[in-house]
Order: sequence, then C-alpha cells, then structure tokens
Amino acid sequence: MSEDPNVIPVFQPVIGEDTLKAVSDAFDVGWLGMGAATAAFEQGISERIGAGDRQVVATNTGTSALHVAVAVAGIGPGDEVIVPSFNFVADHQAISAEGASPVFCDIREDNLGIDVDAAEALISERTKAIMPLHFAGVPCDLDRVYALAEAHGLRVIEDATHAFGTVYGDKTIGGFGDLTCFSFDPVKIITSIDGGAVVFPAGNEPEHARHLRLLGIDKDTELRYQNKRAWDYDVVSRGFRYHLTNINASIGLSQLARVDEFIGARQSSCQLYNELLSGVPEIRTPETDFEGISPFIYTIRVLDGRREALIEHLRANGIATGIHFMPAHSYTYYRVCRRGDMTVTERLSSQILTLPLHSEMTRGTVAFISDTIRDFMTP
Ligand SMILES: *Cc1c(COP(=O)(O)O)cnc(C)c1O
Repeated sequence: MSEDPNVIPVFQPVIGEDTLKAVSDAFDVGWLGMGAATAAFEQGISERIGAGDRQVVATNTGTSALHVAVAVAGIGPGDEVIVPSFNFVADHQAISAEGASPVFCDIREDNLGIDVDAAEALISERTKAIMPLHFAGVPCDLDRVYALAEAHGLRVIEDATHAFGTVYGDKTIGGFGDLTCFSFDPVKIITSIDGGAVVFPAGNEPEHARHLRLLGIDKDTELRYQNKRAWDYDVVSRGFRYHLTNINASIGLSQLARVDEFIGARQSSCQLYNELLSGVPEIRTPETDFEGISPFIYTIRVLDGRREALIEHLRANGIATGIHFMPAHSYTYYRVCRRGDMTVTERLSSQILTLPLHSEMTRGTVAFISDTIRDFMTP
C-alpha cells in the first residue's frame, strides 16, 4: 500500500473481509500465541504443496525459516554455503548467524537462478550446502542443483520465498527435495503479516526444528497445538523465539484459501506485461510464459544504461518501481567473502527493474505502465 494514493505501488497486499474475519475469529478463540491455528496452517501448506510425508514447520519469518534450516543442517563455524550474491541479504545473514560463510556464486542469464557450473567450481573441503533461490517465482535448475549436491554430499536449502505454489516438472516446489523455505511476509504472494515455513524430509529433523523454534523447550509444540501449555517442561537444546502465533497463522490460512486466485491473476498480469513490452527497444522481458509459475515480482531488464532515467520517468508518471537485487558482495559486511566470477550478477543488478505486480490489478494498469515505458524507450 502506498502512502500517496496517486502512486501505483510496487506491492499491494490483498487484505479482504475474509482476512479481517479470520483475525477477529482468532481473537475470539482467546489463545493468541502459537496454537491450533498454527498447526492448521502447517497442514494447509503441506496439502497445497503436496508434501506427503515431508513435514512443515511454521516460523515467525522467512528469515527465521532459513536460519532454522541452516542450523538443523548442522552448518556451523568454518563451514561454507554456496549461494547467489543476487539475492536478499536474509539468506546470507541466516548463514552468518550460524558462524558459517556464504560463498557467492554467479547466476544464469535466462532464469536468474544459480549457475550450477559456477557453483561446482566453488566447492571446497568446507562446503556443506548449496542455497539456490527461485528468483521471482521462476524455478532455478533444480535437477542440476540436486545432481551436484548428491555428487558432493551437500545439503540443499531451497530459498522458495518467491515461489510458493510454483510447479517444477509434475511437482510443486517444497513437495520434494531436501530443505525448502517459504516466506509469508507482508509483500509475498500470500501473507501472514510475518511468517515463514521450512519443509523437511521425513525423519527426525522436524523435531529438532521445533525445539530450535521455541527456546529449546520440549513438549511445547504438541500441547500448544491444542491451545494449551505445560509448566513442567524440559529444555533440550539451544533455541530461538521463532514460533508463529495463532493470529498470524489465521491470517495465513485465510490467504491460503485464495492462493490459486492470486497466482492466476498474477500470471495473467505477467503474461500481459510480456506481450505489451515485447519489441520495446532496449527492454528485455523475462524468459518465461509464466505457466506453472507463482509470480512474486515482475522484473524487466533495461539494456541501454538508462535504468535510472526510466525510474525517474515512471516516478514522474506515478509509477513506483523496485530493484531486486543489489549484489550482496557489494555490501560492506559481505565484501570479504569468497566468491566466483560475478559477471552476470553485476550486469543484471545494473539492469534489473521491478514493476508493480499485485494480485488485484487491472489490465488497464498493466497497459498504462507498459505504455509509459514504451513511450520513454522509443526514440
Ligand atoms: C522475503 C525474502 C526472504 C525473507 O523472508 P522474510 O519473511 O521477509 O524474513 C528471504 N529471501 C528472499 C529472496 C526474500 O524475498
């Protein structure tokens, strides 16, 4: 939502009467903390992605989901995790939080996901995991990521914070593989205001994750899921305060009920952008038809070095834009990390531009934004 009602914002969460009712119903239950709604949200996520015997553990942010995944994978001081620099710093901080080091890897031009050949060249004795991102909801080369991980005995921590609902082959992201992390923050495709989840393979890692999620306290998840708690608990591990409340989970559940509607609407807007921007000089649209994609953001590339001028032109016409992402290896804290060649990352991060994409957006708005870009770029 924008401060200025005359500006088309980059993000515009849909908070309908259904969500408001879910909140007031959750307050009526009177159990505000983690509880039965949290369990129901985990179940709903599991069903939507076809998790089967994989287990969903909800957290209070996507960042804490990534941190829990890193910790449960046993990644610690001295270890390295290969991750794109072209990413949100939450991923890098989740690695740093465990005393491990991100090793920055370049991306591919076509899907803006990790370059698996470049990742392979970065593997060292210290490498423990690879952390690919499904940028903008478009899957990275997952088959190749898993083949590489298997060949070198690495864990895979998928950053699927952009890709809730994206289909890969005949499965949904998170429904297969190793560790998958989602975010339900205010601007993601569905929101619980703040929230996240890790999907684990069947086994005993989910139990470890539940301990990490709530201060190392045992028994807690089981009882709280019945809106109860025990006072004779034991503390069995280190832990954080990362659990998701009933109020947040209820919001998430109301949004989950509409996710297919949101995905469909966003796919249509992205397809229309692709069509209306095709052939605009010096503009490159995403190399996907958005079938099977759950689009988080819609990005274009401005090839002629006039991105900043285009941003100004759009601003002057009441259109906000964003930049996803600045490369992490350019930040003060991460400048010192080991990295590979960053040619594509550096080129992309100087060209990329995020246009407004909302779950409720008219074709007229997409046409207005596209026309404004075409007018500026056409000599
Ligand atoms: C949103 C996001 C996260 C973190 O999620 P939060 O819920 O905001 O903590 C991590 N990585 C990427 C790429 C994201 O877009």
